[in-house]
Formats: sequence, C-alpha cells, structure tokens
Amino acid sequence: MSGDLPPLREVVARHGLSAKKSLGQNFLFDLNLTGKIARAAGPLDEATILEIGPGPGGLTRTLLAQGAKKVIAVERDDRCLAALEEIAGAYPGRLEVFAGDALTLDYPAFVAERATEGPVRICANLPYNIGTQLLTTWLTLDAWPPFYDRLVLMFQREVAERIVASPRERADYGRLGVLANWRCATRILFDVPPSAFTPPPKITSSVVELRPRSAPVPCEVKSLEAVTLAAFGQRRKMLRQALKSLPGVGDPAPLLEEAGIAPTRRAEEIDVEGFCALARAFSRRRA
Ligand code: SAM
Repeated sequence: MSGDLPPLREVVARHGLSAKKSLGQNFLFDLNLTGKIARAAGPLDEATILEIGPGPGGLTRTLLAQGAKKVIAVERDDRCLAALEEIAGAYPGRLEVFAGDALTLDYPAFVAERATEGPVRICANLPYNIGTQLLTTWLTLDAWPPFYDRLVLMFQREVAERIVASPRERADYGRLGVLANWRCATRILFDVPPSAFTPPPKITSSVVELRPRSAPVPCEVKSLEAVTLAAFGQRRKMLRQALKSLPGVGDPAPLLEEAGIAPTRRAEEIDVEGFCALARAFSRRRA
C-alpha cells in the first residue's frame, strides 16, 4: 500500500461520503478483504483492470498496491472523484478515473481507447442494483472471446448462486446461468459477510470468477437470449407451451424436434447445450 494515502475511513469522513442506497453503496474498508479480491484477479503486473464503482477507492488502491499496470475506474457518484484523484496522485499514470454511468458504456470501444498492452480484467464490488445488468452486457458482447480474460465480481450470494447454477439446482437455474456458463467457466470463490461492508447490507455476498471459454458451443447470442427469455419466462410450463411466446414461431413443436428436445420438458431441465441447440434451430427459422 502506498504510504502516502490516509486510512479509508478518514477519506470517507473528509469528503463527506455518506453511503447512498440509491447507488448501491456498501463500502469495503477491510484491506485484508480487498487484498483477497485483488489476488483473485491476479497476476496483476501486466494487466489493465476495469473497476466499476470504485467509491472511495478501497479496492482501487489495493489493486494498484498489488501491482496492477493500470486501473480504469468508472464511478457515477461525483462525490467520490476527489478521493479517487488522491489515489491517482499516489500512483502516477496508473489510475484513470472516468466519471459516468457504467450502464451506458460501449465496453469494447471504451476499453480499447484506454487499456495498455496486456490482458484486461474486470474486478469490482458491483452496485447490487445493476450487477446482473452489467454482467449480462459483458456476457452478450458480439465479439467472442471478449476484450477481458477474466471477471472477478462481488454479487449478492443469491445472484452468485444463479450465475453458477446448473439444471440440477433447479430453483437457482435460469437465464443468467445459461448465458454465463455458455460463454464462461464460472465458480464462486468465497463468501463475504454483511459485517465486512459499511453500511452492512442485509444479505451475504459472494465473489464470483468467470473465465471466458475460447470456443463456446456455437449459437447466436440474440437467439439464445430469445429462447431463454421465452423458456424461463414461464418456467413451470412445458416448453411446447412456453416457447409459443417466441416471435414468429407459432407452434414450437417443430423447433423442439429440430433441437432434439422432448416438447414435454421444462426450461429448468434443459442444459446449456440443449438451449444452444434450440437457439440454432430458432436462428434457422428466423433466417
Ligand atoms: N468499490 C467500492 C468498495 O468496494 O468499497 C464501492 C462499491 S459500492 C458496492 C458500488 C459503487 O458503484 C458505488 O461507489 C456507487 O457509487 C457506484 N455506482 C452505482 N451505480 C453506478 C453506475 N451506474 N455507474 C458507475 N458506478 C456506479
């Protein structure tokens, strides 16, 4: 840790950074914990790290202290910018702060303009209210393999379980699990108790790792999104019924037959390969 930086609690008090619930602000002050998250994103010395929602910069300064070549930090709350500029001053040329909304970025272009040579990773304690939306954006990029070689992200435990779920764990298994495991190898690295945050949230959190697969099962992302939306939109119904909501399909029986899936099966019983077969059949139908 750079000796020039004051303790985080002091920074938060000096800049009046009282946590705003509307921005999903639950800050981490425990540097052992930020160290554990940063290590999960390592080795860092050749890497550009994209951090969404640095807040007062606990994880940011740890990533830099552990040797990240560059950190690009996207923060929507202008109140945090002065604290982040102090960190940038302690690590000259290695922290770029972008004041803006992470939901509106064109990520491949944004990163291409800013990253240095070497791998790009996303590492963040995400704002809970937009975590799944951001992850879905990063999983449904047109280009694959994507611009990042790993995601190390904090979510609510319940969302983390949905990300890593397989058809055997039916309650958690849904669209997010299909998209995530289609394109990435996923695992929960460790849990983080509410007491680790200021203010403490009501629920336990988990850090999840997603590593892009070099060659996911072939299918078009838009078709996979459409079939999973229809199938899990009515997850208790048989697919011959649930898939009627797919645009332009009418009777889903031929589509299911083409994908080799019995029409009486339900979404929660179909694995990623099965959904990819359905998506391919749907793409052919649309063409
Ligand atoms: N990384 C810090 C930490 O671990 O202490 C803060 C994490 S806090 C859970 C989420 C952060 O995301 C907050 O700083 C919040 O202001 C920021 N944030 C919320 N919505 C955002 C958005 N749409 N774009 C960018 N940042 C956002």
